[in-house]
Amino acid sequence: MAPWTSPNLPDLQGKGRALALWQANTSTVTTLEVGETARMYVCGITPYDATHLGHAATYVTFDLAGRVLRDAGHEVRYVQNVTDVDDPLLDRATRDGVDWRDLATGEIELFHSDMTALRVLPPDHYVSVVETMDRHVATIQGLVANGVTYRVPTPDAAEAGAQDIYLDLSTQGTFGAASGWDRAQMLEVFAERGGDPERAGKRDELDPLLWRVEREGEPAWDAGELRRGRPGWHVECTTIALDHLGMGFDLQGGGTDLIFPHHEMSAVQAVALTDDPPFARTYAHQAMVGYDGEKMSKSKGNLVRVSDLLRAGVDPMAIRLVLLDQHYRTPWEYTAGLLDSAVKRWDRWTRALACRGDEDADTLIEGMRAALANDLDSAGAVRLVDEWAGGPDQGAPSPRIADAVDALLGLRA
Ligand code: ZN
Repeated sequence: MAPWTSPNLPDLQGKGRALALWQANTSTVTTLEVGETARMYVCGITPYDATHLGHAATYVTFDLAGRVLRDAGHEVRYVQNVTDVDDPLLDRATRDGVDWRDLATGEIELFHSDMTALRVLPPDHYVSVVETMDRHVATIQGLVANGVTYRVPTPDAAEAGAQDIYLDLSTQGTFGAASGWDRAQMLEVFAERGGDPERAGKRDELDPLLWRVEREGEPAWDAGELRRGRPGWHVECTTIALDHLGMGFDLQGGGTDLIFPHHEMSAVQAVALTDDPPFARTYAHQAMVGYDGEKMSKSKGNLVRVSDLLRAGVDPMAIRLVLLDQHYRTPWEYTAGLLDSAVKRWDRWTRALACRGDEDADTLIEGMRAALANDLDSAGAVRLVDEWAGGPDQGAPSPRIADAVDALLGLRA
């Protein structure tokens, strides 16, 4: 699938620092050991509702990671999926009485226009699940051939005798390694995050669904001996990451709500298929964004959508600045006051860029590079630009600093 259009990315003089990220397993900020090509996977949207600020925070965070890696001299191979068939999408389409494909197409277009407005660099491989169905089927067939799956009686299957397929986690010694979570933590969230611990016939309540055979009225694809059906959500990211990055890729990203089960299951399935751990060498997760005292989520109905702000005439650079002024690992709450401050800040910056000159460019650019490379401290980089913008008028524009603010922070007037 074609992604959104890429913004221009200026080349800065010199070279940025190596990216260091906080690692949950060691509780330290550690420099990523990355080869010439940095390989990054970020879980994409399920296109059934518009991008809210929580999503935007995730994509801007990993956009920053990609910018730091590029500035440090790496090629970046960035992969993102589109979960264009899944339960929430089908449920929403049924509720609204629309075709699930039309709903997905419209929401994907809206996501692209939001990402374009926020100047997020697009992925190099942007992969629709529907367009790559044979690859997901091949993953599951490979797992079946490896003897790590089992079938569960499925009385409501559209085809008599067809059975859903699950991964047998008892065969997987690395289960739990990606998240570092224990079983009690896993069980606490599994059901509310799409898991089916109560499903009759499962060997372990945490075993993930690999293949859901066709139900009456649901989309399904031919899959040989698997029978007609569709893949489980976690299989999609396993397959797409392996196809475009391979095992041991550098960075897997998403929101903290993906730590378990989604990232754990994607990883354990990839290991079950290839027997070549790890799946991703590093994980980073965007903290949840709140609004009105609760996590911003569709189920709570307290969404602040990027497209709504844009329609109201808000400068997308101010929206981006709201996000940049937060640290990705710290949960925060959106308020209209944050947006007001960002509008004023962007106005101060653009006025400074027109008259402050480039005299302090080396110091400022080095400071921004150091802040961002240190666990993506975008708020630290923002403060440095604030201090610079408060300096004296030199009667000349600041083209080098404008390029750095663009290349490193993704902001351009
Ligand atoms: Zn994913």
